[in-house]
Amino acid sequence: MGKTKSIVTEREKICFFCGRPAEGEHHLLFGSGIRELAEQDGLKVPVCNKCHNMGAAIERIHDNIMAEKLSKMLGQAVYEKQIGTREEFRTRYGKSYL
Ligand SMILES: [Zn+2]
Ligand SMILES: [Zn+2]
Repeated sequence: MGKTKSIVTEREKICFFCGRPAEGEHHLLFGSGIRELAEQDGLKVPVCNKCHNMGAAIERIHDNIMAEKLSKMLGQAVYEKQIGTREEFRTRYGKSYL
């Protein structure tokens, strides 16, 4: 697990998507150099391996285009609610998903 706490949920050990025990964490914003920023900002959720990247493509976040897009949109929504403005998000993460 990363060093910072999630600002998205307080249920640290429960998969955000299915409620089973979490085995890892998913950073809502990810990609080259982006995951580290999401870690610093706490924009991440606990996940089980199946929901994260080991389930069938339709059941997981990664390599599921719509799920990946929604993940980034949620990350930005939480950022704008708790951290900063849309313009600050755009500057920090390189683009706006909303
Ligand atoms: Zn799950
Ligand atoms: Zn992930």
